[in-house]
Amino acid sequence: MPTDPDYDPTLGNKFIFVTGGVMSGLGKGITAASVGRLLKNAGFDVTAVKIDPYLNVDAGTMNPFQHGEVFVLKDGGEVDLDLGNYERFLDEDMTSDHNITTGKVYKQVIEAERAGDYLGKTVQIIPHITDDIKRRIREAAHGTDVCIVEVGGTVGDIEGMQYLEALRQFAHEQDDDDILFTHVTLVPYSKNGEQKTKPTQHSVKELRSIGLQPDVIVGRCEDRLDAKTREKIALFCDVPIDAVFSNPDVDDIYHVPLMVEEEGLDEYVMESLNIADRALDPDERQNEWRQTVTQERAKECEIALVGKYELEDAYLSIYEALKHAGLETGTRVNTKWIHSETLADGHDGQLADVDGIVVPGGFGTRGTEGKIEAVRYARENGVPYLGLCLGFQMAVIEYARNVLGLPEAHSTEIEEETPDPVIDILPEQYDVEDLGGTMRLGDHSTEIKPDTLAHELYESDECIERHRHRYEVNPEYIDRLEEAGLVFSGVSNNRMEVVELPEHPFFIGTQFHPEFRSRPGSASPPFVGLIEAVHTTSSDPEPVHTPE
Ligand code: GLN
Repeated sequence: MPTDPDYDPTLGNKFIFVTGGVMSGLGKGITAASVGRLLKNAGFDVTAVKIDPYLNVDAGTMNPFQHGEVFVLKDGGEVDLDLGNYERFLDEDMTSDHNITTGKVYKQVIEAERAGDYLGKTVQIIPHITDDIKRRIREAAHGTDVCIVEVGGTVGDIEGMQYLEALRQFAHEQDDDDILFTHVTLVPYSKNGEQKTKPTQHSVKELRSIGLQPDVIVGRCEDRLDAKTREKIALFCDVPIDAVFSNPDVDDIYHVPLMVEEEGLDEYVMESLNIADRALDPDERQNEWRQTVTQERAKECEIALVGKYELEDAYLSIYEALKHAGLETGTRVNTKWIHSETLADGHDGQLADVDGIVVPGGFGTRGTEGKIEAVRYARENGVPYLGLCLGFQMAVIEYARNVLGLPEAHSTEIEEETPDPVIDILPEQYDVEDLGGTMRLGDHSTEIKPDTLAHELYESDECIERHRHRYEVNPEYIDRLEEAGLVFSGVSNNRMEVVELPEHPFFIGTQFHPEFRSRPGSASPPFVGLIEAVHTTSSDPEPVHTPE
């Protein structure tokens, strides 16, 4: 049950079901999260569920180059990156239960069948799969006022059918004003500059053929929808004209809530769900979010992100965390992706003009030598450096090779036979065979040593951050690395979590992923530290002294 003393039990759960039309990648998740943000601003307890109709149990084994980054939740859930957007927009922690996949649903139902739970019955998509989908939605929504349920993919996809059927049943079981079906669709321009509604009409027709009538239609278009376009959509899709909204392109996703609020989408949603604005002063309610995301950013800097995937979504939370740090420090942060493979053979000229360097997490061999080069460049030239997970491990390897004098030092993930395995597999991982969901995952607490950069950043003796790794700093090398000048300033049960270089203006690596907890209005400390360091280091830094 909710612990909030203001919780209104008569309100019960309300649900906003969000489907997508015409094509994926329209920003359906951002539209949904923006509505959630506005309802939160209006005083409601809001949560979200993302449905991914693929057969994978979770996103953990998926290639970021296809689906974007794997977002990690506090409970260790490895989920779709949309959950990251929901956490950032709603400023709420989600759990694995908020990401429903076909893999999870079928696994549950088939295991129950094997256990004999359906003894005597034929187990079928309807009702057994659809019942499990509905149960999961209700459980995830428990204790909140409004739950946004986004169905991934596009209406008409075969694999999405069972979910749409489950939503149809769900709506049938609830009161009319408990459910709002929102369809987000594309409104393209024709060559002669006309907004075209036919794709929208077709996707709504598809929805109606499976028994769903949208209550609200949001048209994604370069610009706002013209009055004529809205009229046409209303007429052909059978919704009131007031129920047709625009979601035009904006420069910054955090401005989408401001945009849809101007359109009056939040008011319409509240009215349809029969819930009254709870904010004490409705005029004030947008202010906090608005102030945060429209913050003046007079300064500017360029941060290199040295990775192997040429896809912004593969590093989404890092881009966002840099942006949050920019909002907090009044800085426009331009992130320049640099292909790690191109750095390997002394092509570090690409780093010459950047103000700071981030080496992100990663798996496997490809591009690691280039990442080590980026660390060397940052260390030797006094360029602010932030290493995340693999970027932390690469910093340790670089130091072992170039300062401690172990030229073949490596991680056993990359070079199994290395004579100096400074990064080695976690002992509890020796016997792990399955690859899905078996890493060291989610929240773990790190003890932070006093008088260190980490302590200065977190202003605390402890931090709790999210993890996703199988390898760690090999305990056998810690003393030697420390004698050579490296400082392990954060430790979790004798496991090295934070590394830093006191001689350097700003050099820090974290075994954890601070980017996953960063949000607009509460930026992650290591990211804020990086941007602040960029402003305090000179543009032409002196080479840094390293101990012999
Ligand atoms: N591949 C490394 C490990 O498993 C780093 C993981 C990561 O960067 N998320 O330890």
